[in-house]
Amino acid sequence: MFALRGAARFSFPLNGKTRMRTLVVIGGGPRAAGLLERIAAQSPSLELAVHVVDPYPPGAGRVWRHAQSPLLRMNSMAEDVTVFTDSSFDGAGPVRPGPTLAEWGDVEPTSFPSRQVQSKYLAWFFDHVRESLPPNISVTVHQARALKVVGNWVWLDSGESLRAEVLVLALGHLDAEPEPEHRKLADHASEHGLVYVPPLYSADADLSEVTGDVVLRGFGLAFIDLMVLLTEGRGGRFVRSGQLEYLPSGAEPTIYVGSRRGVPYHSKTGYRLQGTRPALPNFFVADALRGRELDFRGDVWPLMAKEIAWGHYHELFTGHPGLVRMPFTEFAVSFAALPWYSAEMRELEELAVPDPADRVDFERLDRPLAGLTFASGEEFQEYLRAYVEADVARRSDPRHSADLGAFLALLSVYGQMSQVMPYDSWWHGYFSYLASGPPPDRLEELLALSRAGIVRFVGADMWVEAVDGAFVAGSPTTPEVVRANGLIEARLPTHSLSRTADPVLRSLRAVGDVSEDDAGLVRVTAEGRLINERGEVDPVRFAVGPYTTGKAYAAFARPNTNAPAFRQNDRLALEILRTLGD
Ligand SMILES: Cc1cc2nc3c(=O)[nH]c(=O)nc-3n(C[C@H](O)[C@H](O)[C@H](O)COP(=O)(O)OP(=O)(O)OC[C@H]3O[C@@H](n4cnc5c(N)ncnc54)[C@H](O)[C@@H]3O)c2cc1C
Repeated sequence: MFALRGAARFSFPLNGKTRMRTLVVIGGGPRAAGLLERIAAQSPSLELAVHVVDPYPPGAGRVWRHAQSPLLRMNSMAEDVTVFTDSSFDGAGPVRPGPTLAEWGDVEPTSFPSRQVQSKYLAWFFDHVRESLPPNISVTVHQARALKVVGNWVWLDSGESLRAEVLVLALGHLDAEPEPEHRKLADHASEHGLVYVPPLYSADADLSEVTGDVVLRGFGLAFIDLMVLLTEGRGGRFVRSGQLEYLPSGAEPTIYVGSRRGVPYHSKTGYRLQGTRPALPNFFVADALRGRELDFRGDVWPLMAKEIAWGHYHELFTGHPGLVRMPFTEFAVSFAALPWYSAEMRELEELAVPDPADRVDFERLDRPLAGLTFASGEEFQEYLRAYVEADVARRSDPRHSADLGAFLALLSVYGQMSQVMPYDSWWHGYFSYLASGPPPDRLEELLALSRAGIVRFVGADMWVEAVDGAFVAGSPTTPEVVRANGLIEARLPTHSLSRTADPVLRSLRAVGDVSEDDAGLVRVTAEGRLINERGEVDPVRFAVGPYTTGKAYAAFARPNTNAPAFRQNDRLALEILRTLGD
């Protein structure tokens, strides 16, 4: 990789303090707001005009816009979300403290607020950043979609064009052109008067035609959103008289849900650590692996597994000494010396941890229905309800706070992984399944809907076929086969540069100014600079967010964790200011 020749495509006058510089940021979501905050925090001396372009409201952007169903909620606890750096921050820029979502919104710290509440927090943050800017920095918001980038000009659908000395793409979650399979399914639906909804952000999906029997493919967070919109969103109500009960409105479809695993994502934990906070990372450390040729399954995953298990056992031993048979110091020495996948490690676990439910089994966790079959659909419904009930009970009971220790280690592993290897789709899915699940009360709602017959579980390795006049679905888990008049892909589109629907990326791709890695992510340097098709580094154009190879830090920052997203924004802000000549 080398810098693009003629890096000074835009020349800056020597008297840097007098001329106004321009920075254009396409995308005005949380990432753009965080970046602006870090630019302001560096107290630059140059005269800077920042233009933020987004058709959705600045700060909140598309995902967190206020104009969406009040029923949709975050899957983060209010106390775990902040947009402000705190004393844990070790970036080059200064710490600028401020309230967490819980403090700002005066909401229960351990509640999972609605997306509308988070929307207000983000909009307030954007205004706060804007108001606290020094007089030499101005921010202009353009409520428009950027259509193309040509040279250093950005064209907007409002008819305006902006000249960018530095351009940042903070485009967030991208829409994609339909994959061939989705196109076929959509054609089938329109030929037979059926409904087909391709992968979409749930709040954008048109569900008005969904009635009768509908198959939802995917059992993650998008499923939870869709489940809520198709039930409570259709006028049904949850009431509690002991067990949670669902009172249907009559306007709900019957929802058949299945996926590869066939089970929902694990519930978020509803407790705090009972022991001491583990220092992380210990075993999966990016610095120790950098520059080595690595095989994911052979070299990387065993270290990741050991790190996650360490988080689990650290909490089990320090928080629940009555559940183990040896002091943590003794366990830790043996644990550190053994590879995760070794007979000796299994012996150590058996010796030290008497209850198998307190031991870690990653393979069983990954495929809980593997090898299970049921004689009837009804038997399977009962089994899965018991499975979900047990998950909710476990994740609500501080007796099992080792799961929270594992969760913290999962976050550490996630951050390290991005520095070690390109995106691995299995790992990404496994991480989301374990660490990014719904709040426990959403799973209780799922159970109530299942008891009411509104939701039916299809099973693992669900297959779907387009047959004459219907979508048919089934699974090896049960003999039941469903004939439905609707199919919804319950997931976000997969990020892919070659299939992106974003006009800006398409325009840059058309001239070879952007490139993708094997996973379809937009290639950027460690500083966030675009890498073009020839492997050259763009001197003035940056990209940041979940669709880039620097994507690791898509979620909101957690307080007191020296959050990687803040450090990334800080580095990017410095790099941008340096490029502008500050
Ligand atoms: C449904 C959903 C729920 C989530 N829930 C949580 C959660 O509970 N907790 C958590 O920690 N994380 C959550 N996340 C993670 C999420 O990635 C971040 O919260 C955050 O939205 C990422 O911010 P961003 O600015 O990078 O992207 P986005 O929020 O996607 O913002 C990008 C912006 O770019 C704009 N844009 C794109 N293309 C153009 C263009 N051509 N012209 C102009 N503007 C453009 C879009 O309109 C959008 O407003 C969730 C993500 C999704 C999708």
